[in-house]
Amino acid sequence: MPFRARPSTQAPAPRSSLWLGRLTLVACVVLACLAGIFSRPVGYLAAFWPANAVLLGLMLRRPHWARSWSSWPLALAAYVATDMAMGAPWTKALGLNLANIAGVALGWWCLARQSEDVVRLRVSRSVLYLFSACLLAGTTSALLGSAVTRQSFDHRFVLAFSRWLATELSSYMLILPMVLAAPDGWLWRWRPDWRQHGWQGALPLLALVVLQSFAAWYGGPGALGFSMPALVWCAMTYGVFATAVLNFLAGSWMTALISMGAFGNTSEHTPLVVSLRLGIAMLSLAPLAVACTYATRQRALAQLNHWVNHDFLTGTLSRRALLERGAKMLESMRNHACPLALLMVDLDHFKIINDRHGHAQGDLVLQQLVQQARQLLRPEDILGRLGGEEFAVLLPNTTLEHAHRIAERLCGQLSTHPVTLSDGTQLTVTCSIGVHGSNPPAEGETLSHWLSCADQALYRAKASGRNQVQAYRAGMAPLPAAL
Ligand code: GH3
Ligand code: MG
Ligand code: MG
Repeated sequence: MPFRARPSTQAPAPRSSLWLGRLTLVACVVLACLAGIFSRPVGYLAAFWPANAVLLGLMLRRPHWARSWSSWPLALAAYVATDMAMGAPWTKALGLNLANIAGVALGWWCLARQSEDVVRLRVSRSVLYLFSACLLAGTTSALLGSAVTRQSFDHRFVLAFSRWLATELSSYMLILPMVLAAPDGWLWRWRPDWRQHGWQGALPLLALVVLQSFAAWYGGPGALGFSMPALVWCAMTYGVFATAVLNFLAGSWMTALISMGAFGNTSEHTPLVVSLRLGIAMLSLAPLAVACTYATRQRALAQLNHWVNHDFLTGTLSRRALLERGAKMLESMRNHACPLALLMVDLDHFKIINDRHGHAQGDLVLQQLVQQARQLLRPEDILGRLGGEEFAVLLPNTTLEHAHRIAERLCGQLSTHPVTLSDGTQLTVTCSIGVHGSNPPAEGETLSHWLSCADQALYRAKASGRNQVQAYRAGMAPLPAAL
C-alpha cells in the first residue's frame, strides 16, 4: 500500500467491479486530458487542465480504486498515451505526466485521511482543507513540471512555474468541488433543494447571468469579482453541489473572457494572465465556503427542530408540537365540517412496573406502547406524548364511534402482546383510554377543552377498573382525586 489513508467503511469490491472501475478511471482521465490538450494554445502549456482534478476527485470518491496498486500506474499510462497520441514525444509526455500524478497523489494523501464529511464538503472547514490540498498538489506538479518544461519550452523557470500553478489551482478549485459534492447515485435522480423556494428560487441564477454579462461588457480586472454577490446568493439558496457547478460555469466563463481580452491585453502580458487565473481560483473559495457553512447550519437547525418537536424516548411528537399541530387540525376539521376524534391513553399501574423492574424496563414498555399504537394509526393521525406515561392521539376525519373501536383495538392488542423485558421476562401491560369526538368540532371549542373532555373520560376508565375505553359524555362528573 503506497499511503496510509482513512480506513474504508466499504466492503472490498468484487474483481469484476474493480476492472469496470479501472476502465472508468482510464476513460475519465483520457477524456479530461483531451479536454485540456484541445484548450492548449500551440507551443504553450494548457490554460485549463481538468485531468488532475478529475483523477483526484475519483480517487477520493472511490477509495478502493485509490488503494489498488494498479490504479495509479494505469492512470499514468492513460495520461502518457493520450499525450503521445496527440503528438508529444514520449520523454516529454512521461516527464510532464509524472509531475501531474505526483501532485494528484500528494493531494489524495492529504484529503484521504480526513473524515468523509470533510471530503464531501459537508462541514464548514471542508473548504480550507480542500484549498490547502489543491495548493499543495498544484505546487508539487508546478515545481516538477516547470523543471521539465524549462527544457521543452525554453521558458524562464519562475514564469513556467507560475503559469502552471495558476492553471492547476484554478482547474482544481473549479472542478474538484463538483466531483466531491456530487450526490451519490445517478445524477439525473438528483433533486435540487431550491425547488422549495418556488419561482423566487430562480432569482439568484438570473442575477448570476446578469452580472456575468455585465462583467463581459464592462471589462477591466475588477470584473473578475462582479458576479460574487450573485454567487453568494446562489450558495445560500441552492446547496453545495449546485454552487460548485455554478462556480465552475462562472469560472470557465471568466477564463474564456481572459482569452477574449476582456480584462486587458492578455495576449502579451503573461503575468497578468497568471494573476487573473489565480484570482479566479481564490474567488471560487467564497461561494463554496458560504454554501458549506449555510448547508451545515440548515442541517443543524433541522436536527434541532426535530428534537424540539419530538420526544427523545419514544419518537412521538412532544407536548408542545402536539398542542400546536392539534390546534391547527381542530381548526381545519371545523372549517371543512369534518369529524375529529381525540384519544387520551394512559398506562395502568406504570409506577408499579417501574418499581418492580426498574426505570429502564419502564422505558421499554413506553416504547412498546408507541409501537403498538403506530401499527393501528394512519400517517395523517397525530400521536404525541403529553408527559410521563400519558399519550394523546388526534384522528382526523374519524367519528367518535370509529375512534372508540380503534381505542378498543389498541387496548386489546397491548393486553394480548406481552412486552419482552431485557432479561427475557414477558410482562403483560394494559392501558386505559378516554375518547372524545365531534362531527364537526363545535364552534369556539379549543384543543385544551377537548383534552379536558378526553381526560375526564380517561379517569372514568381508570375508575371503572382500568384496561378499558370510555367515551366522554356531556355532564360527565369530574372524578375524585383518589383513584
Ligand atoms: P394509573 O394506573 O392510575 O395511571 O397508575 P400509574 O402508576 O400508571 O400512574 P402514576 O401517575 O402514579 O405513575 C406514573 C409513573 O410514570 C410515575 C413515574 O415515575 C413514571 N414515569 C414518568 N415518566 C417516565 C419515563 O419517561 N420513563 C419511565 N420509566 N417512567 C416514567
Ligand atoms: Mg398510568
Ligand atoms: Mg398518568
